[in-house]
Order: sequence, then structure tokens, then C-alpha cells
Amino acid sequence: MRTPLIAGNWKMHLAPTEARKYAIRLRVRLADVRGRDILVFPPFTALPAVIEELGRSGIACGGQNLHWEKQGAFTGEISAPFLADLGCSHVLVGHSERRHIFGETDEDCGRKTRAALDAGLTPILCVGETLEQREADATRQVIERQLAAGLKPVQEDEKFVLAYEPVWAIGTGRTASPEQADEVHRHIRAWLGSRFTPDLAARVRILYGGSVKPENVDDLMKLPDLDGVLVGGAALNADSFDRIVRFLP
Ligand code: PEP
Repeated sequence: MRTPLIAGNWKMHLAPTEARKYAIRLRVRLADVRGRDILVFPPFTALPAVIEELGRSGIACGGQNLHWEKQGAFTGEISAPFLADLGCSHVLVGHSERRHIFGETDEDCGRKTRAALDAGLTPILCVGETLEQREADATRQVIERQLAAGLKPVQEDEKFVLAYEPVWAIGTGRTASPEQADEVHRHIRAWLGSRFTPDLAARVRILYGGSVKPENVDDLMKLPDLDGVLVGGAALNADSFDRIVRFLP
């Protein structure tokens, strides 16, 4: 019922010229893939080239961040309508690098989620605990807080995606074990059922992110409440990303 979603976050990698070449490689390599949604998040400056190359390939494109205002005196920021105007369909909200390096708050995430929805974009709200929080047994509490704030302005009939990304697993080579991921994904779905309705909980896709690679994707994708992956480092290599997209069910 939930189509698997495989998303690649290119972070601050690939200038427009390289990004265009990489998009062409992905378009060609992934042309035969069916039954899974594919999405890439290039840096802002590469979006026009990547969107142009991906065209009608079926691979969608999104922004890595946005500002919650539509326009105004916010030097250096990009708004949701700007991303939509380029042809983006999705946008990341609250990636841990935005929260931890750039000081984004839970409240900022709620504003960004609302702005994305108002512009017709699907937000992917990222949540996840630090190692310290996990060791203090605060994982559930942290995630519930991030979900409550990030989804505060969201209505039952609106479309969004969630990504569970334990901070200690991002870019570290350390992946959550299937058991650890399973526990949190189940908890998030149960939380959705009580905050919204069981119907919404059954239809929202919950991705896992944190050092996903060809070697661990198959085991992760077997988990019943895990509907896809958000991939950083391994999304920058066509062989790895291709293998991840072709995870074995
Ligand atoms: C990410 O950037 O969202 C991510 C999960 O990175 P990595 O796969 O490199 O851990």
C-alpha cells in the first residue's frame, strides 16, 4: 500500500556542471526501475540543471531546505514557492545538519512544514536523537517532541513524509540495527495514529536515514514500518545508489 521511496541527499556536493552529468547517469541507469519512487536533493544551485535532465524520467527532485516566508528581506534564503517554481516536488525539513550546525529549532521546522505545504510541496520532516539522548533513554521523548512541533500546523488530509535519522548514524558509517530502527519506526507510526488517525498513520511513509549502504539496505527494507531510505554519502556514487534503489524485498 505504501510505495517504497528511495531518496538521495547530495548535501553540499556537486556543482551544477557535475550535478548535471550525475543526473544524466542516474536517469539512464535507473530507467527500468518500477514500483519504487526515487527522489534526489541536489544543492540549490544545481536544481535547474538536475530538473532539466531528469525531465520525465520519473525521478523527482527536492530542495534540502527552505525559509518559511514566501519572500522578503531574508538574505541567503530560498522560499517554498521558489522551489515549486523550479519544478521541485519535495523539500527536506529539519535535517539534523540544519538543526545541529545551523541551530534550527523545532518551531522553525513547524513553520517550514507549513510553508512547504502551502506551496504544494511535500515536506519530508527529519527527526532523530543524538547519541547522548539515546544513552539517556530519551529517544522516544525527543522524537515525539520533534514530531509534535514539526507537524503542529499539519491537517489530516495533507501529504507529508517522515524520516527517522538517528544523529549518531548520519555520516558516521554506524547504522542503526534493524531492531533499533524497527522500534522507533513502530513508535512513530503509533504516535501518528494517536495525533492524527489510524488512516493517516497507515498511509504516511516513514524513511530511515543514517549510513544506509548497499550492504545494509535489504535488511532495513524488510522492516514492516520502514517505507524507504534517505541516503547521504552513498547517494553520491551511481553504483551504490543504483543498488540501494534496487534493494531486495
Ligand atoms: C543524510 O544526509 O540524511 C544521511 C543519512 O547521510 P548518510 O547516509 O551519509 O549517513
